[in-house]
Amino acid sequence: MGQQRTRRRFMKDCSTSAAALVALSATEPDVGAAATAREGTPYLCVTCGTQFAESAQPPAHCPICEDERQYVNPEGQKWTTMEHLRSSHKNIIKQEEAGLYSINTEPKFGIGQRAFLIQTGQGNILWDCVALLDDATIARVNELGGIAEIAVSHPHYYTAMVEWSRTFGGAPIHLHEAERPWVMRPDPCIRFWTGRVHELRAGLTLVSTGGHFEGYQVLHWPAAAGGNGALMAGDQPQICMDPKQVTFMYSYPNYIPLNGSQIRHILECLDPLPYDRIYGAFFVRGKGIIPSEGKEIVRRSADRYLRAIQG
Ligand SMILES: [Zn+2]
Ligand SMILES: [Zn+2]
Repeated sequence: MGQQRTRRRFMKDCSTSAAALVALSATEPDVGAAATAREGTPYLCVTCGTQFAESAQPPAHCPICEDERQYVNPEGQKWTTMEHLRSSHKNIIKQEEAGLYSINTEPKFGIGQRAFLIQTGQGNILWDCVALLDDATIARVNELGGIAEIAVSHPHYYTAMVEWSRTFGGAPIHLHEAERPWVMRPDPCIRFWTGRVHELRAGLTLVSTGGHFEGYQVLHWPAAAGGNGALMAGDQPQICMDPKQVTFMYSYPNYIPLNGSQIRHILECLDPLPYDRIYGAFFVRGKGIIPSEGKEIVRRSADRYLRAIQG
C-alpha cells in the first residue's frame, strides 16, 4: 500500500515535471523563434545547431543535446529559426589552399564548427555543415561552382544540411547508415551507405572509423596539399592546442574518453590512407590545420593515448 502510494506519487511528480517541461519549451523558445513561429517551421536547436523537420511548435526535446556526448543549455532548451539566425549572424568564407574554402559562422552559433567547400574538376563537395545559410553565402558558393555532393562527419554537424542540399539542386548528402537514428530532418536527399569505405567523385572517399559516433566518417582528399593528401577530420582526430598532437573522445564537452580497441580501430582505418595534412572542424589558435606530418602525428598521439588509458 505504502509502496503503491509512493509509486503513484512518483508518477504524478513525473507527469507534473514533464508537463512543466513542455510548457517551458513552448513558452520560452528563443525570442526570434517565438516571433516567427508558424505552421511548418524547421526549428533550429540553439545549443547544437540541429535543424528539425517542420513543425507548428518548437519540438519538445533535442535528442542530440540530451545525448551524453552533448548537453542541454543549463538555462533550458532553446530554439530559433533560420530567419532569425540570418539577422544576427553571417558566414565568413575563406580560402585555405587551392580548391578549398572554409565556411565559418560569426559570431559563434551552436557547437561552433566550420564547414569546407572542396572544388574538384567534377563538381564541388561540401564537407561538414553549419546551421546558417543566407543569401551572401549562397551567392559566394555559387561563384565558387555550387555544390554537387555533401558529406557530414557525424550528427553534431548535421545542422541545416537538408536546407543546404535543397538550395543547391538537391545535392545528395552521404551519411553512414549507423547514424540514421540521429537524423532529425529526414529527407530523400540523404543517402545512407554501409561498410567502411564509400567513394565520392574525383577520388575523394569517405572512411567510417567509428569512435566518437558509431558511423563516424572522415573524408580523404588525395589531391590536397600539393598531392600529398589531406584528411578532412571533423572532430576525430581532433586537433589539439598543440598542433603536434591530436586526440579522440567519445564526448568532448563531457570529457568521456574512448577505449583501447576503439582507438586501435580508428588507427587501422586511417593508416591505409595517404595523407600529410589534417583539417579540423575548429579554428584552433586561428588555424585548426596540421599542415604536414599529419599521419605521423596521428600515430604518435594514438600511442600516447593508449599508454595513458592503460589500467
Ligand atoms: Zn540540440
Ligand atoms: Zn562531435
